[in-house]
Amino acid sequence: MSIPVSTKSSTRSVVTKTGGIYIHVPFCQSRCIYCDFYSTTYGAEWKRSYVDSLKREMQLRREEINTSRVPSLYIGGGTPSQLPSSLLLEFFRAIQDNFTLDKNAEVTIEANPDDVTPEWIASLLQTPVNRISMGVQTFSDSLLRFLNRRHTSRQAIEAVRLCQDAGYSNISLDLIYGLPGQTLSDWQADVKQLLSLDVPHLSAYALSYEEGTALSRMLQEGSVNEASDELSWQMYEYLIDETATAGMEHYEISNFAKPGMHSRHNSSYWDGSPYLGLGPGAHSYDGGRIRRSNNTSLKEYVLATADVPHQNEVLTPEEQYNELVMTRLRTASGLLLSLLTPEQKSYCLEMAKPHILSGNLMQDALSLRLSRKGIFVSNSIISDLMY
Ligand code: SF4
Repeated sequence: MSIPVSTKSSTRSVVTKTGGIYIHVPFCQSRCIYCDFYSTTYGAEWKRSYVDSLKREMQLRREEINTSRVPSLYIGGGTPSQLPSSLLLEFFRAIQDNFTLDKNAEVTIEANPDDVTPEWIASLLQTPVNRISMGVQTFSDSLLRFLNRRHTSRQAIEAVRLCQDAGYSNISLDLIYGLPGQTLSDWQADVKQLLSLDVPHLSAYALSYEEGTALSRMLQEGSVNEASDELSWQMYEYLIDETATAGMEHYEISNFAKPGMHSRHNSSYWDGSPYLGLGPGAHSYDGGRIRRSNNTSLKEYVLATADVPHQNEVLTPEEQYNELVMTRLRTASGLLLSLLTPEQKSYCLEMAKPHILSGNLMQDALSLRLSRKGIFVSNSIISDLMY
């Protein structure tokens, strides 16, 4: 059990070390039926107020990390590419007024393909962004319509080309597999299309039916069916094989990258590094026991006069152990045993024994790692190793 700490108007710092920054931009033009990320479809006046409030939150919380050497900045959402150019530039000016990015900092912005226009790129070129993450999800137009995505397959391809032509080579695309009605050959076509675009990074997720989404209501009503485990495994296996053939490293269960092109910001989450999260719904972590979640309310965010409404959570040692197992076992480098206390290590290795014997886990002197076979049943292995 974590200990929730009520901090409605607290200005207490939770992050004190060098770490990255995440900024949540809570705007989408429309909602995709599978998505449970926090966002609103509010209009222009809310975007103006959001940027004003974000500037205030930056000033108030900037000391929570080492402001002079920020190694990574990730602008996520929502849909950051929904900010108009003038606000986007103001947003980055505020970042530069409050923080100094490391000279090699990775600066990522998420974009929807239909927002990627020559005008948007011209604005982006005036910012420190050096990495673009685009939610493509599938190249099938009928599935895109079903998901209520706003773009077509052609728009996604053109968006990638526009970014590449402007000099943005560090591009990550997101795909989803196991969509209702999606066949193995549909998925194979998606993977082939993605690889033909020559992007250095791919995040691919099995569809999950998140509570409260339109898609999960459709599942409850019986109007869609979940993909079978067998089909999902075939899709995942195809993805692993094709990306390997294309020279990409499978560095985390859902993430694939050409050598040297791992997402440094996301890797820092998996490494347990501290980070400062700004914006409604953003999370922060002090690298130890304290996690902070800003409330998922744009209205509360813009109305706040002091620190934005949030909750702090103090992790118990058991929760810290569970997080280590959950995040690190998902990575190719695995769970470093030296990170565990002697008691945790002996518990972990005891729980791991049957999976080592069955060949799903591999142990060496330093770490525990999922084998290729184990990747397919990672959820049950991780849950067996947790307290
Ligand atoms: S998937 Fe992206 S664009 Fe769609 S609703 Fe979620 S945050 Fe918005």
